[in-house]
Amino acid sequence: MREGWILGIESTAHTFSFGLVDPDGKPRPSSSDTLRPTEGGIHPREAADHHVDLSTQLFSKLLSDNNITTREIGAVAFSQGPGMGACLRTGAAAARTISEHLGVPLIGVNHCVAHIEIGREQCGCDDPILLYVSGGNTQVIARLDGRYRVLGETLDIGIGNMLDKFARKHGIPFPGGPVIEQKSLEWISKNPNPSLVGLELPYAVHGMDLAFSGLMSAANKLVSEGVPFEAVCWSIQEHAFAACIEVAERALAHTGKSEILLGGGVACNQRLREMSSIMCSERDASSHCPPKMYCIDNGTMIARLGWLEIRSGRTTSLTHSGIDQEMRTDQTPISWP
Ligand code: AMP
Ligand code: MG
Repeated sequence: MREGWILGIESTAHTFSFGLVDPDGKPRPSSSDTLRPTEGGIHPREAADHHVDLSTQLFSKLLSDNNITTREIGAVAFSQGPGMGACLRTGAAAARTISEHLGVPLIGVNHCVAHIEIGREQCGCDDPILLYVSGGNTQVIARLDGRYRVLGETLDIGIGNMLDKFARKHGIPFPGGPVIEQKSLEWISKNPNPSLVGLELPYAVHGMDLAFSGLMSAANKLVSEGVPFEAVCWSIQEHAFAACIEVAERALAHTGKSEILLGGGVACNQRLREMSSIMCSERDASSHCPPKMYCIDNGTMIARLGWLEIRSGRTTSLTHSGIDQEMRTDQTPISWP
């Protein structure tokens, strides 16, 4: 393989992103754009059209921001799954084209594993439990016997999707999560000692798994009964985040590990970060969270995982470069330290 920079292409859902790691695996900020529908959820075909329309512009910007030419790219990594089929196909097509054109290896990687590896690199943690909280995914993951194993996950919708759907029902466009965070802060500033009395929502923990759709329906019901919207936003955060932290804490207890790593767009939330820090400090563990640009979906994390995989001797042939919408986290063998 030609020594060089690794290009990473992310296109699992609403975000299309190109990122780079340098030949030593050091991350560089991505060049990204996110489709924000004015109404309704993400339509996979519209997201795919958005990605295709922006691909040349985003790729050129990445190269000029980093002052490199295509000749310095040594391999091309892309998100092979899991995600929305139409979106994944646009990233895979761009990756195949660039790799063939430059004559450099292609490597298809697992999006969820990429969140873990960029987090480990950024936070310097060694063997964490990952609490992966994004739009489409909610998983508690640990490395055991050479794989990242899913110890618990959502049984219905991702936590971010729940926040976005709740927000949308009340007139707030995608992404709803940051607005819910803002509304919760407004409620706390008006009520410095807020109480959950009258704001109770269903328990989202089911064994080691989670479920959020019942919580969302109950929250909608509270708003329809006239409970202030800000109060319900605050209550949703308290209940949903506590549920995630509870499962993450059990994962720490069962595995004997001592680090929590947050990842995914919902990990941008200050209250979730605070709850994780409190839980960790109570049990002599440490809580880590990468910078926001590496919590949300980004091409750099794909490049970083591609770098690790290539150093372990793995590449993807054109014949095996098809996307896998249902790719599981524990499908990827982990052969690096
Ligand atoms: P991702 O799917 O990882 O790209 O992340 C997007 C998701 O993160 C969306 O569901 C957003 O609503 C959510 N999100 C982003 N920022 C925040 C925040 N500050 N609080 C809660 N959710 C957020
Ligand atoms: Mg993600």
